[in-house]
Amino acid sequence: MIVNRKDLSWWERLYLPAIASGFKVTLRHFFKKKVTMQYPEEKWSVPPGYRGAPYLVKDQEGRTKCVSCQLCEFVCPPRAISITPPGPAVQTDAENVEKRPREFEINMLRCIFCGLCQEVCPEEAIFLMKDYSLNGESRKEMIFNKDKLLALGGVHNDRIMKWKQKAVEARRQEVFPVQEARP
Ligand code: SF4
Ligand code: SF4
Repeated sequence: MIVNRKDLSWWERLYLPAIASGFKVTLRHFFKKKVTMQYPEEKWSVPPGYRGAPYLVKDQEGRTKCVSCQLCEFVCPPRAISITPPGPAVQTDAENVEKRPREFEINMLRCIFCGLCQEVCPEEAIFLMKDYSLNGESRKEMIFNKDKLLALGGVHNDRIMKWKQKAVEARRQEVFPVQEARP
């Protein structure tokens, strides 16, 4: 396909009218309210519900909520999550909690803040917080380990405290042991 180039008109060839109309646009914006933000000195205040970087949380009793089920690792599209499940040497710090991650890492260079890990987590242990700007001096620094994720995530008020209820149920069962059916 051949596109014919249109010749410039006499008015366009004068050049100065184009400069003048450019200045007109500049002048029109010159007195308007400035919208440019001096980032990073000035930061955005993100709206409620904004989904930034994912962090791990503890409950109000200071217990890690993650039970190392690895669902988030499985669904994470860019494979940013890497969980090391507990071996026999790992002791849980809450009664009736079977598992805790030995290590839990999120590669923030890979994470796309999609929120699937939060959606899929059965324990409400991982939340996307408001951090939108993460930086570091090396790639290694951008892999956040469990301690760092927990420190950044802080406390999430757990209204259900299911492990506490399970502990109560377990004690109740000890008091009233299930009778084995006689043949
Ligand atoms: S927010 Fe998305 S990309 Fe980031 S860790 Fe969670 S599932 Fe993976
Ligand atoms: S954060 Fe949630 S989904 Fe991921 S391993 Fe822990 S309990 Fe499972």
